[in-house]
Amino acid sequence: MDKDTINILCKEYNINPKVIDYVNRKEELIKDKFHKIQEIKEYNQLKVIYSMQKSRLSSTDFNWTTGYGYGDIGRDKVEEIYSYVFNTENALVRPTIVSGTHAITLTLSGLLRPGDEFISITGSPYDTLQKVIGVKGDIQGTLLEYGIKYREIPLNNGKIDIEKVINSITEKTKLLLIQRSTGYSDRKAISIDEMEIAINKIKQHNKDIIIMVDNCYGEFVEKLEPGDVGADIIAGSLIKNPGGGLALTGGYIVGKTNLVEQVANRSTAPGLGKDCGLTFGTTRTTLQGLFLAPHIVAEAIKGALLVGIVYKELGFEVIPDVEDDRSDIIQAIKFNSPDRVIEFCKGIQEASAVDSFVTPIPWDMPGYEEKVIMAAGGFVDGSSIELSADGPMREPYFAYYQGGLTYEHCKLGVLVSLNNLLNNSLIDKKKLVY
Ligand SMILES: *Cc1c(COP(=O)(O)O)cnc(C)c1O
Repeated sequence: MDKDTINILCKEYNINPKVIDYVNRKEELIKDKFHKIQEIKEYNQLKVIYSMQKSRLSSTDFNWTTGYGYGDIGRDKVEEIYSYVFNTENALVRPTIVSGTHAITLTLSGLLRPGDEFISITGSPYDTLQKVIGVKGDIQGTLLEYGIKYREIPLNNGKIDIEKVINSITEKTKLLLIQRSTGYSDRKAISIDEMEIAINKIKQHNKDIIIMVDNCYGEFVEKLEPGDVGADIIAGSLIKNPGGGLALTGGYIVGKTNLVEQVANRSTAPGLGKDCGLTFGTTRTTLQGLFLAPHIVAEAIKGALLVGIVYKELGFEVIPDVEDDRSDIIQAIKFNSPDRVIEFCKGIQEASAVDSFVTPIPWDMPGYEEKVIMAAGGFVDGSSIELSADGPMREPYFAYYQGGLTYEHCKLGVLVSLNNLLNNSLIDKKKLVY
């Protein structure tokens, strides 16, 4: 790190020189891993550009319509491009899908009928989905209330328990849900390789079962996506990876045509499907974001590695480990204390370009059971492809770090948060020096 940069960090950010020196030294340990990240990024960048060219994307596609939204060419192009990128027959990509939870909910409720059963085969799903299903909380309109049956099969040593899944399927089982990313749990992401093996084996026994993937935070981390290895339908959020930090809102569902159409019927109305729905001028930023997404995801992964090595070497368990292959952008740090989670998140917030003066505190966030602290000083509200960190206030007090539009910003986040922990005597000072 350049002398002038160190000067700014000391003078403007009041960062302890020991922290700067420590982070710079640890950074050296991960630099050899950047090469592989670069290779994946290069591949994915070409995939995205090629998909745009194949759809004959044109400058006139960025206009939008009003009213019913018939004949919105830009909207149709966005969906065509998404289906090429994710290697699926069809896609529904809309600004009116408000979040990842909404995209997943639309998919489940579009495909399942009363009496059908679905099984989460990667253990308990993401917190907000537990409310959607109806296994947590006391909410009306859940899937259980609609007569849909639900079971979960825990992971076995962090892997999908394929034998158990196959033996658990009955004639009522219509859909299996795979959550690719860690979520608020203590397991690694499910890799595309592992997904492929599981899907192949399951389909050998039950060729008609629908395999659905919650792809949140997984996009562009590997060269392949779930659609490349046989997943039937995939859902995610545009204010995470595929929005590249530029998409202002939205969600996507990609998959087999007959499935996407059922979901579209649920999202508008049977008979209207994908043909209606405004894009409100979002097409341009949605595609600009998709264009940048492979690059942004690579920056975020480098940031996750830096956080990982910095806290691993201070003695904390980090998931995934620095040496592990990655399939999402999340870096979990097991902090074992609420104070560390809070001070870490405060540091990430302080390092943000937007709302750096705001102090995040744990709050009753809609959709979550425990209080959650969220550090998110994003240009787009709630965008977690931007530098962000969060964690539910429960044992064993994990902080989940993700995003960062530039690696340099990630590094500032690491420096400020570590400095915060040091100033509050929440780390072992001796470990910062040789
Ligand atoms: C973020 C996330 C969701 C939900 O997305 P929101 O946009 O926050 O509603 C679902 N599943 C996983 C694994 C996630 O990371």
